Amino acid sequence: MSSPCDNCHAGCCRSFAVPVTGADILRIERDLDLAFWDFACRWADPDGKIARKYAPHFYFEDEPSTPFVICLSHQPSRFHKGTSKCRFLVEGQPDDENPMGQARCGIYNSRPMACRCFPTKFNSTGELTVLHDVPTRGRKETHPAYELCPRNWTVDEVDPISAPQDLTVAKFEMNFFHSLASVWNRAPRSFEVFPDFLKLVYSRRVVSEVDELEPKTIPLPNVDQQRKAA
Ligand code: SF4
Ligand code: SF4
Repeated sequence: MSSPCDNCHAGCCRSFAVPVTGADILRIERDLDLAFWDFACRWADPDGKIARKYAPHFYFEDEPSTPFVICLSHQPSRFHKGTSKCRFLVEGQPDDENPMGQARCGIYNSRPMACRCFPTKFNSTGELTVLHDVPTRGRKETHPAYELCPRNWTVDEVDPISAPQDLTVAKFEMNFFHSLASVWNRAPRSFEVFPDFLKLVYSRRVVSEVDELEPKTIPLPNVDQQRKAA
């Protein structure tokens, strides 16, 4: 199935901070044998432009009044001076045919749900997949690296099976991450212990039928105790 992504320089992977869920993080860690600190970061989001209505805000004890979103980290672009890109974006050398260079996701099979879903969303009833009207630029900066899709998407370029399935999983996982954030934000700790908190919560996500009879809330693990025991 062709798409505007073919031969694109991936302005989306350069323009946006990509919000991730705990499930995205743990999948990347597991599939690529990476640690949280190798690829994840917290982005301050005082005006809510990163979280939008999608991702939760997290608070941390070193900056208790700043809302943060957990995202993939960025790094400087190799070929487009002064711009940044997702640390997993693999850039190709610009040439006459592709002056911005082609680019591809280096973790395509393990990429976060937000990346899988772009540029789609559910309609208001959650029954249909809707193509976003993608703007021409992803950032205010005028650098062409931040230009988005080179042409408009058409509905026949979106897989009618996998697109709604990806949206469903993205919504489910982000709902869980919102619940997890509300637990964390009740007693914010340092960002340093956040990866341990994630691991503990997700390690308790599968329960036996007997445990399932207990109240269905996310347990707040004692991260410090677990770290001392390790
Ligand atoms: S900017 Fe648009 S066309 Fe280019 S990679 Fe991203 S989604 Fe695909
Ligand atoms: S994980 Fe892949 S698809 Fe997502 S922003 Fe990074 S390079 Fe792009």
